[in-house]
Amino acid sequence: MPEYRAPIRDIQFALFDVLDSETHYQRIQAEEASRDLVEAIINEGAKFSEEVLAPLYQSGDEGCQFDNGKVTTPAGFKEAYHQYVEGGWPSLSGDPAYGGQGLPESLSLALNEMINTANWAWGMYPGLSHGAKLTLSQYGTEDQKQTYLSKLTSGEWTGTMCLTEPHCGTDLGLLKTRAEPQADGSYRINGTKIFISAGEHDMAENIVHIVLARLPDAPGGTKGISLFIVPRNEAESLNHKNVNCGSIEHKMGIHGNATAVLNFDDAQGFLIGPENEGLRCMFTFMNFARLGTALQGMVAAELSYQGSLAYAKDRLAMRALSGPVFPEKPADPIIVHPDVRRMLLTQRAISEGGRAMIYYCSQLGDVVHAKNSSEEDIEEAEAIMSVLTPIAKAFLTET
Ligand SMILES: Cc1cc2nc3c(=O)[nH]c(=O)nc-3n(C[C@H](O)[C@H](O)[C@H](O)COP(=O)(O)OP(=O)(O)OC[C@H]3O[C@@H](n4cnc5c(N)ncnc54)[C@H](O)[C@@H]3O)c2cc1C
Repeated sequence: MPEYRAPIRDIQFALFDVLDSETHYQRIQAEEASRDLVEAIINEGAKFSEEVLAPLYQSGDEGCQFDNGKVTTPAGFKEAYHQYVEGGWPSLSGDPAYGGQGLPESLSLALNEMINTANWAWGMYPGLSHGAKLTLSQYGTEDQKQTYLSKLTSGEWTGTMCLTEPHCGTDLGLLKTRAEPQADGSYRINGTKIFISAGEHDMAENIVHIVLARLPDAPGGTKGISLFIVPRNEAESLNHKNVNCGSIEHKMGIHGNATAVLNFDDAQGFLIGPENEGLRCMFTFMNFARLGTALQGMVAAELSYQGSLAYAKDRLAMRALSGPVFPEKPADPIIVHPDVRRMLLTQRAISEGGRAMIYYCSQLGDVVHAKNSSEEDIEEAEAIMSVLTPIAKAFLTET
């Protein structure tokens, strides 16, 4: 398997030459993101991705182990996560009021590209946390932010999104998980969620699940769904298990990421956002997840391009149409053949074009969340995003 090399020049080209990020950072009043700082972050992120994460790709393929409710991640995953936290990477774009460094989300995405190309299964753990952070920043109360957002921002805890149930995935209007209000203002959550990415693991001391459930007497369908924070362990006493993992899925790929069945049996939860508007609030997470899925297609194209290029330079077959390019060898490397070059350039076009499209969507996301954006700016950015993000996701995951 070829070694991953972060395409630093291509990333910088997309950021600065195609998308003029310097002007964009000024527009959203993120002047601290100077070109020097951004380049330094990309270079350090590249080193972490190439030197720490890429070498774990193969151990990751051996998969997570499940034993009596506990999940052990593949060799090296936990240590890499600790290095990631110590390096301050999880807080790159978080709100400074909760320990974040306040840099733009779009910059985080460039870092995520490198992390996820180097090791997709590993990258899903911080990836899911990031979505949980965005949802909490937008809809959490001050108390919830102090308790959960700050720990997610530092990376001490990780997060998930819990939508899917055994009988429903696409059609969430059918979901059955219940939330009963308690006298102390919390809720008792009962139900089962399946296919929960990063749903259980040994990399952090707690997991913050963002869960869709129904209140008593809620209207049927999607109009009766509310959103809850359900910590795996109660925040005050980390030894007390609030959510139990029933098993993990055996999948065709991304074995290093635990796709969990989670049982909520009278688990303590806390409402986020208004009652019965959970699906709308969850869309903060899902919009991020959509961009993440588009990124997944793009990084697969980049990694396969890097692998194909190395192979095409090494594998010998036939001679170039214009005569031998390497007469001293028994045949020329296949990269000399026009049809092989065409295929390599197609891969490269998907990866480079995909990068520009996804980075552009993330800049629109910056505009939506920037404090100085006018209502018109936000409306315009949301309108373009709502068209472009699903296209990016569909095109990049299907090609
Ligand atoms: C690796 C992995 C990780 C996941 N991680 C998470 C996670 O972190 N959190 C979470 O909540 N869920 C997660 N999921 C679940 C995922 O969101 C669901 O699988 C997805 O929503 C589809 O639901 P389903 O599998 O129940 O399929 P169904 O909803 O039962 O659909 C079955 C088939 O019918 C098709 N279909 C359904 N409705 C229509 C329609 N109207 N028109 C045309 N076709 C239709 C679907 O495309 C699908 O092919 C994950 C799944 C996988 C495989």
